[in-house]
This record gives sequence, structure tokens and C-alpha cells, in this order.
Amino acid sequence: MSSLFACILREHDLWIVLVAAFLCGVGSWVTARLFRRAMQTNGSQRVGWYVLTALATGVAIWCTHFIAMMGFRAGTSVTFDPFLTLLSLFICIVGSVLGFVAAGSKVIRWPSVVGGGLLGSSIAAMHYVGMMAFHVHGQVHWDLPYVVGSGILGPILAMAALHMALKRTAKGANAMAALFAAAILSVHFLGMTAFHVVPDGEGMAPSHSEAMGIMTMAVIGMSLIILVMGMVSYLIDDSTRAESIERLRRMALNDALTGLPNRANFNDRLDFEIALAAQRGSRLALIGIDLDRFKDINDLRGHSAGDEVLRVLGRRMKAMLNEESGRFIARTGGDEFTALYRIGASGDVSGFVSRIEQALSEPIAVENLEISSGGSLGVAIFPDDAVDRENLVNCADLAMYRAKSNPLQRVCFYEPTMDERIRERRALAADLRDAISHDQLALHYQVQTIVSTGNIRGYEALLRWQHPKLGQIPPSEFIPLAEENGLILSIGEWVLRTACREAATWEPPYTIAVNLSAVQFINADLPAVVRKVLAETGLAPERLELELTESTIFADRARSLDMLRQIRALGVSIALDDFGTGYSSLDTLRSFTFDRIKIDRSFFSSSAATAQTTAIIRAVLALGKSFGIPVMAEGIETYDQLSMLNAEGCEEAQGFLLGHPVTVDDIISKGQVARLKGGPDGPGAVDGTRAESGA
Ligand code: C2E
Ligand code: CA
Ligand code: CA
Repeated sequence: MSSLFACILREHDLWIVLVAAFLCGVGSWVTARLFRRAMQTNGSQRVGWYVLTALATGVAIWCTHFIAMMGFRAGTSVTFDPFLTLLSLFICIVGSVLGFVAAGSKVIRWPSVVGGGLLGSSIAAMHYVGMMAFHVHGQVHWDLPYVVGSGILGPILAMAALHMALKRTAKGANAMAALFAAAILSVHFLGMTAFHVVPDGEGMAPSHSEAMGIMTMAVIGMSLIILVMGMVSYLIDDSTRAESIERLRRMALNDALTGLPNRANFNDRLDFEIALAAQRGSRLALIGIDLDRFKDINDLRGHSAGDEVLRVLGRRMKAMLNEESGRFIARTGGDEFTALYRIGASGDVSGFVSRIEQALSEPIAVENLEISSGGSLGVAIFPDDAVDRENLVNCADLAMYRAKSNPLQRVCFYEPTMDERIRERRALAADLRDAISHDQLALHYQVQTIVSTGNIRGYEALLRWQHPKLGQIPPSEFIPLAEENGLILSIGEWVLRTACREAATWEPPYTIAVNLSAVQFINADLPAVVRKVLAETGLAPERLELELTESTIFADRARSLDMLRQIRALGVSIALDDFGTGYSSLDTLRSFTFDRIKIDRSFFSSSAATAQTTAIIRAVLALGKSFGIPVMAEGIETYDQLSMLNAEGCEEAQGFLLGHPVTVDDIISKGQVARLKGGPDGPGAVDGTRAESGA
């Protein structure tokens, strides 16, 4: 080894050798960085990084060799064959591209061995082609063992270098650089040790011309430029990558529109704050915030105005945010925000809450307009109301919905009764699901009377639910529940079928009135259902009357009116129920020719017929006359009311005075109707006539 160094020092210009070794080190270091980057990318990006890596490698190998050769004291004049010199550069660049591609390949079995073999061989090939380009005046001898040694050591060190590089760590990259530099230097200097020149006697010209010196400087300069370019592109890419990672991180944690923390961020923070409060034994407020008029703003002023409102509110809330002291606000939904507040020694959140309220109610300037959204706030406290994330959020939601349902109450604190009410409703809805199949539903029938004669006109079918535990549940309670979850579709069809099947057996053939819900108009193909039920039960269409309220038509006016016309075309009549309680009764009357108007029972709620109710009855009767529609009064409980109706010329009446809603057995036993022979059969009939708890 020491003789190797002695030999190098004897035959080389030390300074130039140091420069060559320095370039080799820098080139290897850049190569290792670029190769590591290539391994992190895919597709065309990867190809680009491979090319840069190979260029840096080429510079590291070729310039090291070329510059070191400049420092070689051949003891005679030397020249370079230009073609072979270029060929040697070409060999090391192509060889290293192949080596790196092989090392990075997923299909090759031993990537570092194959890649290292290619890379190491290309270093050796470059060296010996380079030496063929190095023409000296004299006899050249080669020391074969050193030649063979360089041909073996180069590939082995290159394999080790790539093996370290494939570890894909910063340490691995440094090890690769060191091993790769060792591969280049060992091939070169072992090769040079094998190289001996015996100068020709007459050709003892100086080995260093001035031109050679300039060439050396030029090569050093060029190789540095290439290496710096490679390094700079690596650094630029690295920092853009770091920037985009930071941007992605910010995007993942913050809402793009308002810049406030988003839901994911909020959930993390909530977990943290709960853990902190539990550890300190302190309290934490969670405040759910829902904008009140945001949908209107969006619908009336457009989405850009809606966005602007959110941006301004976001800015105001951001000003309140202080993570260190535990004040946190996030945008957790379209027009929903959620805030956290560490309740300090004062135990008071109201100050913070009113600051939020103020931020929400202050006007916002949008397109020369002053908009104020306002919001509803629901507050839940850890650990008083709940001790885990999910339940705490749930409590705040419940409180927020309570605040939303009451326009006079902007802020609502959670109370346990809210929970119970919701739980009860959920349980009831679940029970209702099984009500039909468990035979818990039944129909009661309330008589409708012709005022002038006292004769029966027909019956209204009214639904009853006999709950196994809770007893009779009034329709005013369970019908809205059935409407909320869509159960009303199957229940409504059941009511229609049961009532029609029952009435089809009656003698005399009285009319049967059935109530319809607005939801049945929105969801079902109602005309088809009615047609099917009439066909199944054999009830004459003229005997069926469907009752609906104004709100039914309002949900989707055009569609509802179209359905009504189709049902009417079957021969079924349509009554407008609860007349006088809607918003624009007159408008409704104009849009569709109803067969009957039913004055709402609330007009008769005081027992004596007051002057006011008389005036209303008169007005509605006049209205009915002008439209040519008969009027029925509901909720008639006293004789005074009945005689007033008679005096005013009201055609029909319904109410407790004339008859409570009762089971079909009751009306049969009173002799009001008789069943035709072979009365209704099947499950519907059983339901309709089942023994009930009376009325
Ligand atoms: P509605 O259609 O207005 O039904 C008349 C309601 O007034 C019935 O209440 C009836 O019992 C009650 N009533 C009758 N006469 C008098 C009276 O003289 N005084 C008083 N104070 N009340 C009287 P019910 O049976 O509790 O039904 C309440 C509401 O539930 C019905 O109002 C109707 O909107 C709905 N409903 C009942 N059955 C059904 C149904 O099968 N389908 C649908 N969609 N809704 C139904
Ligand atoms: Ca009704
Ligand atoms: Ca009614």
C-alpha cells in the first residue's frame, strides 16, 4: 500500500492530484444525492433525475481521470487522441445510466450487484480507453496484477456504493458517496501504478506545455459548473418539495375558504383539550355555531356572496383564536363552525360566547349591500354534560338545534331533557316501523252529517296507534314522526287500502274520507297507488274523498296539482282540509277546483258561537258559493254551533256533537251501516274491525 502511495507521489504533481481527488469527492457526493432523489420519483421525472445523476457521475469519473492525467509525470511529451478521449467520456456516462437504471429497477433480482457491476465496469472501461487516448513518446509497459486488481476493485466498491444507496437514508447516501469516490480513485490510481513509460531517448520534451495547463483549468472549471448545476437543481427541487409538503399539510388542516382550522384539525384539538382538561381537572366549553340565514344569502345573492360572508366571518373568528390560551374556532361544515374554550377560574364562558354572537351579527358588506347572517349557538360543557368527544359534540348539537328552533333564543346551553326527548322520539320511530306488521294500527271512523236534514253523508277515517306499552298515541304525535322517516308512505297506503276495503262492504254506500300527507305527494306515485287500491278493493271511485291541507300543495306546487288532476280523473273527489289555517287560502282555491272545503275546527274552539266565528263562517260560505264548492264545518261540539251553521246555510258538519271517531263495529252496532254479505276479508279487514279501546 505504502509503495502504491509512494509511486503515486513520485509520478504525479501533488496539487493536481488533490484537485482531482476533491472533484471526485464532490462529484460522488452530488451523484449520491441525485441518485437518491431519482429513487423517490416515478415516470418521466425519474428518467430526468437518472440523466442528471449520470452526468454528475460522468463528470466525477472522467474529470478525475483527465485532471489526474494532467498531473501525471510521464517524463516525456504526451498528447491526447481526441476521439478516444470523447469515447471514454461517452462510455462512462452511458455505463452509469445503465448501472443506475439497473440499481433502481424492481424487476432485477440483485439490483445493487448488477447496477454496481455495470457502474464499476464503466469506470474501468473509461480509464483504459482514456489511457489508449494518452499518447506518450516512449515504450509503455503494463503491470498485469494491478490492471486486474483495478478491474475487480472498481466494480466491488461500486456494488457496495449502490447497496448503501438503496437503503434510502441520508447516512446511506453519504456512504454511497464515499464508496463511489473510493471506486473511482482506486481504479484510477491502481491503473496508473500498472502503467510504466520508458521514454524514447530523443523525445525528452517537457511534459507540461502551457496549453495543457489552460486545458486543465478549463476542465476543472467546466466540471465544477456541471456539478454545481446538478446540486442546485437538487436543492431547488428539495425546497419546492418541502414547500409543497408544507402547503399540503396546511391544506389538510385548514379550510381553504376561511383559513380557519378544518374538521379534522378540530377533532385532534378537541381530543387534546379534553385530555388536558381531564388532567387538570378543569372545564371545557364546546360551542356549536350554525349560521341562520346563510342558505337565503346563497340562494338570493349567489354563491360568491355566500363565500364572501364566510370569508369575513372567518376573519372575525380568526381574530378570536388563541391556541395557547385555549380559544379555538374551526369551520366544521358548510355554514357550521365549532369553537372550544378553556373555562378558567372564573368559570364563565358567556364573555366568549357573546363575542362570537357579536361577530356573527355585525353587518357584512357584500356588493354594496349590508348583510347580517346571525347564528344559533349551542353550548356543551366538559365534564358536566359529557366526558368524551362524540357525546360532547352531540350535546352541543342538540343545544344548537334547540337554539335554532327558537328565534328568540340565540344561545342555548345543553340540558339533559333535550336528550331524553330525542331518545324518546327515536325509540317511538323504531316502534312505529313495526306497527303495521304487529297489527297495532287501526282506523276509527267519524261521521260526517248533512246539516239541514241530519242525515249521514259519510265517514272520515282517522288513524289510531295502540302502542303495546304506551297505549294510545295520538296521530298528531306519530304522523309527523312517520313523515320524517318516510314511513308515512307505507302507512298511508295501508290506511287507504283498509278504509276502501271496509267502505266497499257498507250499505248504504256512504262516502269514505281519507287523509293524505304532504310526503305522499312528494315521494309516491300517488295516482297509481289510488288506482291500484280502488281496483283491488272494488270501491266505486265516487265514494272516495281524499283530504289534504294547503301545505301539501305548497311543497311542490306544479307536481302536486298535476297529481291531483290525475286522481280527480279517476273519479275520486278532493277536499281541502283545515281551511283557514294556511297562508294563502284564496290562492289555493284558485289553483285547483276542490270538491269540498273543510273549515278548520280551531274556528269553533270556544264553545259558544261567537260573533267572530259567525263572521268567519259567513265569509267562507260566501267564498264557497262563489267558487261553487260545498263547505263542511269541523269540530262541531255544541247545538249552538250547529244551529248557527244551519242558519248560515252551511251544508255539512263533523264533530263530537254528531259523533266521535269510533270503530267500525260501533257504527254497525248503532245501526248506522250494515255490512253487505261476504264483507271485507284479508288482513286489512281484520285490522279495521279489530276490538279497539273505544273512543
Ligand atoms: P284532521 O284531518 O283535521 O282530523 C280531524 C281531527 O279532529 C281528528 O283528530 C278528530 O278526532 C278531531 N275532532 C273531530 N271532531 C272534533 C271535535 O268536535 N272537537 C275536537 N276538539 N276535535 C275533533 P285526530 O283523530 O286526533 O287526528 C288528528 C290529525 O291527525 C288529523 O286532523 C289528521 O291531520 C291527522 N291524521 C289522522 N289520521 C290520519 C291518516 O290516516 N293519515 C294522515 N296523513 N293524517 C292523519
Ligand atoms: Ca281530515
Ligand atoms: Ca281537519
